Amino acid sequence: MESARQRAGLRRLPLRAAAFVVFTCVAILAVSGWREWISRQVLLGAAETEMENLARSLTQHAEDSLDLLDSSIIGAVSRMEIDGTGPDAIAKLRNVFTARKDAIERIHSLGVLDQDGNWLTEPGTVISTLSNDEFFRYHVYSNKREAYVGRPVKSLADGEWVITLSRRFNHPNGSFAGVVVGAISSNYLSRFYQQFDIGRHSSILLLHAGGTVIARSQDSATYAGRDLSDRPLFRDPSLQGPGGAYALKSPLDGKDRLNFFSRSSRFPVVLLATVQKDEVLAPWRAAAITRMSVVLGLVLLIALIGTFLVRQLMLSKRMAAALAEKEASFRLLAEGSSDMVTRIGLDERIRYVSPSCRRIVGWGTSKLVGTPALAGVHPDDLPDVRKIVESMKRGELEEARVTYRTRHRDSGEIWLESTLCVTRDERDEIDGVVAISRDVTEQKNLEGKLEALAVEDGLTGLANRRCFDQRLSEEWARAYRDRTSLGLLLIDLDRFKEYNDTYGHPAGDDCLRALAKILAREAKRPGDLAARYGGEEFAIILPNTDAAGCALIAERIRQALRVAKIAHASNVPSALVTASIGGAACRPGMERSVGPVSLIEAADRALYAAKDGGRDSLVMSGEVHNLLSAASGQ
Ligand code: GH3
Ligand code: MG
Ligand code: MG
Repeated sequence: MESARQRAGLRRLPLRAAAFVVFTCVAILAVSGWREWISRQVLLGAAETEMENLARSLTQHAEDSLDLLDSSIIGAVSRMEIDGTGPDAIAKLRNVFTARKDAIERIHSLGVLDQDGNWLTEPGTVISTLSNDEFFRYHVYSNKREAYVGRPVKSLADGEWVITLSRRFNHPNGSFAGVVVGAISSNYLSRFYQQFDIGRHSSILLLHAGGTVIARSQDSATYAGRDLSDRPLFRDPSLQGPGGAYALKSPLDGKDRLNFFSRSSRFPVVLLATVQKDEVLAPWRAAAITRMSVVLGLVLLIALIGTFLVRQLMLSKRMAAALAEKEASFRLLAEGSSDMVTRIGLDERIRYVSPSCRRIVGWGTSKLVGTPALAGVHPDDLPDVRKIVESMKRGELEEARVTYRTRHRDSGEIWLESTLCVTRDERDEIDGVVAISRDVTEQKNLEGKLEALAVEDGLTGLANRRCFDQRLSEEWARAYRDRTSLGLLLIDLDRFKEYNDTYGHPAGDDCLRALAKILAREAKRPGDLAARYGGEEFAIILPNTDAAGCALIAERIRQALRVAKIAHASNVPSALVTASIGGAACRPGMERSVGPVSLIEAADRALYAAKDGGRDSLVMSGEVHNLLSAASGQ
């Protein structure tokens, strides 16, 4: 249950890792974006405060300028009313005006008009050519004595725009006597505003409350006198307070502009400071682009590394799935196989064994896993098996097949045939051996039987001629080496042809089997071998037996035949089956001889001698000796 959950978790790991990478990137971008937004707002807030302060200060400046002008006008008004408008008084006043103008830069001009509108001070000076005399008409019709700020007017003499401030003066009887008027130069104000570094696309404007431009920080000559009374500043009811700010898209370039205005409470003038939002934000934008580039670079790097890691995770997930599938297929094959599949580690212990082990070796998988793989191997076969396993572990052998004996839990010794194959890990290093083993006990038994058949005589079960020849050579060599005696008997049934003729061939076979039984019984020592030499002729090899020993056994055979009493009517005189036996013995190591053939020849000669001597008798070859001596004498 737990491992299923773990596996499910592992399966979702790449998805989770990808989600984490995306989340991290988005979070970094969001936090950085938010931070930039905040710093943008802070910058805009600071700019707004700065511009509001500037608007207020410049309004104050405009008021101060008008106050300064007014103080000169007030002085002139009292002079006019006290000294009258006589030529002396006017001359004095003109001097005062000239001095004032020279001393105070912002004063464009000062002048006095009589009750009919004629210039008393220096006719012909600029002020006499003002484009508008609206201020004069105001004083004619209004008996108010306070200062009046008129709409901006153009001096027709020098073409300069000015703003006028005027007061009336009265005759001693209180009737209208004339107007003292002063003007402040638009150029002066423009120059003054230019001192403030507020940006190339930003501007400061001083307007008359009626909407006419008095001065502008840039291009003042173009803007002065322009009527802007249709703009929101003069029409929008929400902007009619003493001061404030509003945003506006410029109809000229479509850019956002921030406008800050301040209305004078004492004079009909409004100051409007306008900044382009882009310009205010320019330093922030440059820094933000740099900062965001770094952040974007970082996010890109994280995304790249993340993508790489996620791909690796997906790859390892795929590999794990492939491995699991491989393992599942391996198990399916191993567990469905009737052969026993074993995986052996480098420590030669069993890592895995398929369930068919129960049938093949009698033990269950749980009893075998972890035990030494070669534990049950027969000690005689162990060196061969170990040699193969060792060379496979060293990488000298990739595949091998070995047949060996091992123990079955219940039925004892069995034969197994194992096909071994080296296994390698993902780094291609040998990590063990896989063995596919099957029980070949039955096959082995069959082979044993076939082997026996190859050396046995089919009729009698004694050794056949081929086996006899081989054993005789071996025993000859052994006797030669050990300097022992080797005996040989050749046995031939008497008149057997006639026996066949009389009793039939099957009976002849029975007779042969009966004799074979006797011979097998008599050849009782471990090294003795009774064989069918050919037809009805038999032989017995008797190692470590001298002539006397041979004679003894031969007599016993003849005796046993007699006891068997097999009827053979034509074999006179006994009328029983009898045999003639020729025997020979020699010591190959002691005597000079020409090999086992000489022993056979000697026994054969003795057999003939027995036949010649009337049959049913034993002749031992005394001649063998003589023959060999004769051979050595040559
Ligand atoms: P002798 O006494 O001189 O040995 O006479 P014999 O008749 O035995 O002569 P010989 O040894 O030449 O005869 C061999 C006979 O043995 C011939 C054959 O009929 C018989 N014989 C050989 N092999 C078999 C066999 O496998 N079965 C049977 N029934 N008879 C065999
Ligand atoms: Mg014969
Ligand atoms: Mg015979």
